[in-house]
Amino acid sequence: MLTITLKRGKDESLRRFHPWIFSGAIQHIDGPQDEGSLARVLTCDGSYIATGHWQVGSIAVRVLTFTDEPVDGAFWQRRLQVALEARRAIGVADNVSNDTFRLVHGEGDNLPGLVIDIYGKTAVMQAHSVGMHRCRYELVEALKAVMGDRIDNIFYKSETTLPFKAELGQENGFLLGGSPDDVAMENGLRFHIDWLRGQKTGFFVDQRDNRSLLERYAKGRDVLNMFCYTGGFSVYALRGGARLVHSVDSSAKAVDLVNANVALNFPNDARHEAFAEDAFRYLVEMADGAYDLIVLDPPAFAKHKDALHNALKGYTRLNLRAFEKIRPGGIVFTFSCSQAVSKDQFRTAVFTAAAQSGRNVRILHQLHQPADHPVNIYHPEGEYLKGFVLFVE
Ligand code: SAH
Repeated sequence: MLTITLKRGKDESLRRFHPWIFSGAIQHIDGPQDEGSLARVLTCDGSYIATGHWQVGSIAVRVLTFTDEPVDGAFWQRRLQVALEARRAIGVADNVSNDTFRLVHGEGDNLPGLVIDIYGKTAVMQAHSVGMHRCRYELVEALKAVMGDRIDNIFYKSETTLPFKAELGQENGFLLGGSPDDVAMENGLRFHIDWLRGQKTGFFVDQRDNRSLLERYAKGRDVLNMFCYTGGFSVYALRGGARLVHSVDSSAKAVDLVNANVALNFPNDARHEAFAEDAFRYLVEMADGAYDLIVLDPPAFAKHKDALHNALKGYTRLNLRAFEKIRPGGIVFTFSCSQAVSKDQFRTAVFTAAAQSGRNVRILHQLHQPADHPVNIYHPEGEYLKGFVLFVE
């Protein structure tokens, strides 16, 4: 274990339980500097303040606990147990019509660097820090103990989420079981989950509540689901009684996924069609008034702060196209999942688009990430998904 001593005054944010220690706050590091190892963190006068995973980079320590306690199998088990209890309280775990949920949301569950999504009998575990990667086998044991017979498989998917420079050479693969059954249920709808090759852990679990809300607006509407990926919004719109649903994504693979998921729930449903096309091109070329419900759920336009200005312009351009073309009385579901874009900045980008289109636009709902993606109150950076449901006169 390392011992890290902080510079004078650099313990302030830790006293407010913020879980990150930046490299500039460190006075000195004692012990073998193996990336990902546990570090006991001391203030400048030598008193204990936190324990966390040490990593090379701007965020040097991700804090696991502010109590001087061992970080071992029992520790992981306690943390996972609380996470599961929270999901049961929310109503997403142990629910016969829903076996798709996020069990661990990094800092939101006091487990920085770790994500675990549950898809039926399979848990997909993703490490975002070298420390969590190193603890993966301990985490598997803890997960088995906490989840019991709720899961049979644990798939580890960290190939693209770990720092390249750490040279961990890890590969994606099963750490428990290995069932090829890839179908999970969300609110009674079934989805194939591509944990092997898909984005994130294979599915965007974070849009569950927003997809439910869309279902309530879908009846009799002509729906465009832009950036559809696995087609979550499309399948809910079909169940909600949409007149037609068009799914668009620039990736041909996403189009195959959405078609497969529609077929799984509504075989041979002629109301649905999917297109592999660029969003901006599609929105420019589509007929005026072709749709009266449009979903815009693009990938994060700003992955970090430097890209912010262009990202905001991108959101404005995208929303402007939708406002220009949507039928009067239409509904727009618009989202940003960029952590670097604040809710107010996103609202301003959408406001600018509305003003440029000259349409009357009302905000009906203000959306955010669901309860199984909790925000640690001491870590506001954990808030990333925001959206609006708009009525366009
Ligand atoms: N709404 C989806 C998640 C969207 S993820 C859900 O609920 O699951 C973002 C998607 O946007 C990806 O599938 C990606 O292939 C697609 N994409 C990225 N750039 C695009 C572009 N310029 N035009 C159309 N689709 C794009």
